[in-house]
Amino acid sequence: SKVPVPVNEPVRGYAPGTPERASLQAALARMSGERTEMPLVIDGKDVRTGRLGQAVMPHRHAHVLGDFHQGGAAEARAAIDAALRAQRDWAALPWESRAAVFLKAADLLAGPYRDVLNAATMLGQSKTCHQAEIDSACELIDFFRFNVAFYEQVLREQPQSSAGMWNRMEHRPLEGFVFAVSPFNFTSIAGNLPTAPALCGNTVVWKPASTAVYSAHFLMRLLREAGLPDGVINLVSGSGADIGDPVLADPHLAGIHFTGSTKVFHQMWRTVGNNIDRYKGYPRLVGETGGKDFIVAHASADPVALATAIVRGAFEYQGQKCSAASRVYIPSNLWPTVRAALADQVASIRMGDVADFSNFMGAVIDGASFRTQKAAIDEAKAASDAQILVGGEYDDGEGWFVRPTVIVTDNPAYRTLCDELFGPVLTVHVYDEDKWLETLDLGDRTSPYALTGAIFAQDRYAVEQGLQRLRNAAGNFYINDKPTGAVVGQQPFGGARASGTNDKAGSVLNLLRWISPRSIKETF
Ligand code: GLU
Repeated sequence: SKVPVPVNEPVRGYAPGTPERASLQAALARMSGERTEMPLVIDGKDVRTGRLGQAVMPHRHAHVLGDFHQGGAAEARAAIDAALRAQRDWAALPWESRAAVFLKAADLLAGPYRDVLNAATMLGQSKTCHQAEIDSACELIDFFRFNVAFYEQVLREQPQSSAGMWNRMEHRPLEGFVFAVSPFNFTSIAGNLPTAPALCGNTVVWKPASTAVYSAHFLMRLLREAGLPDGVINLVSGSGADIGDPVLADPHLAGIHFTGSTKVFHQMWRTVGNNIDRYKGYPRLVGETGGKDFIVAHASADPVALATAIVRGAFEYQGQKCSAASRVYIPSNLWPTVRAALADQVASIRMGDVADFSNFMGAVIDGASFRTQKAAIDEAKAASDAQILVGGEYDDGEGWFVRPTVIVTDNPAYRTLCDELFGPVLTVHVYDEDKWLETLDLGDRTSPYALTGAIFAQDRYAVEQGLQRLRNAAGNFYINDKPTGAVVGQQPFGGARASGTNDKAGSVLNLLRWISPRSIKETF
């Protein structure tokens, strides 16, 4: 292989007394003491609109980290034009030159930018040190390095030739520009959405979530320092409609790389449908959307491993991973043990300011999410068919804090067993241990989503039944493990049904969507 063989970036532990911990703490102190101005970046230039939004710390919402300029139709237009202007030269570069930008970005992130990106993700998105490290450092470094190796694999794919005839495949980028729309919950996804298409020779208009412009700002600095040419990725913050409407109406829209809510992706898909006569081609629509991810335990499951997986799968990063476990089915024989373990472990979870490294959880992202969690908790407190086993407290006085909460219900159609909440509220349904197959079917039909899921069983027949009956219920399926924490190059990530187009981030399959191959036949 021509490119360096990628190895997953080792996760740093930040143990007390280590230099890595002191250095991250210094970055946290310095960055939270500054007020950062965040301009748009169009054609490599900082653009200030003066229409400012504020980036705050979710766990201390009165603390403003900085002010970001918000774009509208004019800036969206300028970003599209810049992307279209840059396209020819960027695509004409030898692919190694494009790849080198992202390999350099990976090295900068593994080195001098690691603290900056981790601190930005901790402060702006309320991630704990470990959750930031596995996201804004390791996973993003992995995306940059592995995508280069995947792209080389794509390029190697060539048709057969014979005497008198040379067949070849040219892996062109899409014709036009790609619109990347990134979520608040993973800085690594915010990095992957614009850069995966760019690696393949596309140019991009990138709109980050308004609740994560802070880390997006530092990410853009990193890419520029790595040598990304002007106009290749244009960062335009602002409201989804203000930016999205002109972008989706443009004849040169060639693709959308999206992670976010099902509702917004549906809206974009509809708009693209309505605009289809305007476009030069058929835009590629690639989206990862919602989830209502399950853990189904069999009577043979190990209850200790199960309880740990539930706690980590449901509550790490406050349950705000698309992959988070949010509905759990437990057989009656295991319930007494699992119930005691959950009550105990969840009650002792430490939650608070993420700058205190002993906390396991921070705050939820904003007031809207806080209200969603609060409503679900209040509803469960008043319900006749549900009880709160542990948690149920919330307080938005200083930060948007919601205690990790376990709701238990006998009703398999109870609302929070079906609806996505995207927060630290887990619903458990205890089933009669003899109803295993019925419960698998319940797991399959309870939600429209199909992102991640896990089964816990020691009985090999039960494992197989789970694999078969839940075949279409999850794009990422785990056997005896929590359903979160997919690693680039190891568990390509994505789901089908209402969870997305399943174009596996962190694999060669995703890159294929950003390529429009030309078959060339030459005869001699
Ligand atoms: N890839 C992440 C995981 O496996 C989840 C990504 C997401 O939340 O969109 O936990």
